[in-house]
Amino acid sequence: MDKILEVNHVTYEYREDDTVKTALKDLSLSIERGSFTVILGHNGSGKSTLAKLLNGLHKPTAGDVLVDGLNTKDIKTEIEIKRKVGLVFQNPDNQIIASVVEEDVAFGPENLGVPPQEIRVRVDEALTAVDMLDYKKSAPHHLSGGQKQRIAIAGILAMRPECLVLDEPTAMLDPKGRAEVLSTLHRLNREQNMTIVLITHYMEEAEQADRVLVMSDGEILADDTPRVIFSDVERLKRVGLDVPQTTELLFELKKAGFDLSTRALSIEDAAEEIIRAIQKETRH
Ligand code: ADP
Ligand code: MG
Repeated sequence: MDKILEVNHVTYEYREDDTVKTALKDLSLSIERGSFTVILGHNGSGKSTLAKLLNGLHKPTAGDVLVDGLNTKDIKTEIEIKRKVGLVFQNPDNQIIASVVEEDVAFGPENLGVPPQEIRVRVDEALTAVDMLDYKKSAPHHLSGGQKQRIAIAGILAMRPECLVLDEPTAMLDPKGRAEVLSTLHRLNREQNMTIVLITHYMEEAEQADRVLVMSDGEILADDTPRVIFSDVERLKRVGLDVPQTTELLFELKKAGFDLSTRALSIEDAAEEIIRAIQKETRH
């Protein structure tokens, strides 16, 4: 199998003066090219630390991280690794620099020394991929949170990465913005075979992933398909995961034997789903 990312027995320690904080403990995992992986975990479980290790922003205290076979400890391939693995963060406002959308998206390839004509092609391509081409000439600060985050993603795409690692990209967005970003990521995965590693603490965002990793205290607690992971809501709650009440209710009903999807996020959608399931039930 083709592994784009390999984390081999990685320990990561934050050191400040005399204090040592072990954020990751002997962690190993690999990510297949073209896959969609969601990493869940409560605050402080080590998700952001892992994200930064995946593109060489942090170097392991022990163990190795390989990107497409390149070791992040190797200074010679540092830039190549940063280009291969694009990192997207929580706050779009911190990631958008320019005052016009197209200039912002051009920023990354400009830094890579891509010729201007090629940059124009890439900017249009990246904006199309996140469905924001119409906003090319807009001012980013006039856009919604979800639109801004999609611009930030376009800025990374313009560098033609092989893998996107997103650290809670939806945490500051409203439900509509979250849905926009999530569907953009799934489309990129489906249509461009882009490898996606999505870090989130919203359990329902993991529903359509190929694979879900659950982190707790710097370790991987579970690694399975969403179906298996979600069959144990209790375990997720025990590790402090934020389970939305609508999701929890739908899971409980599903567990009790109702034939329904647990995807609904809003109360209205959940109610509709429950009504559908009850109608199905009474028809039998
Ligand atoms: P998450 O993203 O899952 O919330 P983090 O990777 O940010 O987790 O943090 C993992 C652990 O490392 C936490 O206990 C956190 O307090 C600690 N940590 C994170 N950043 C630093 C830092 N810069 N200095 C010291 N400790 C840190
Ligand atoms: Mg974090």
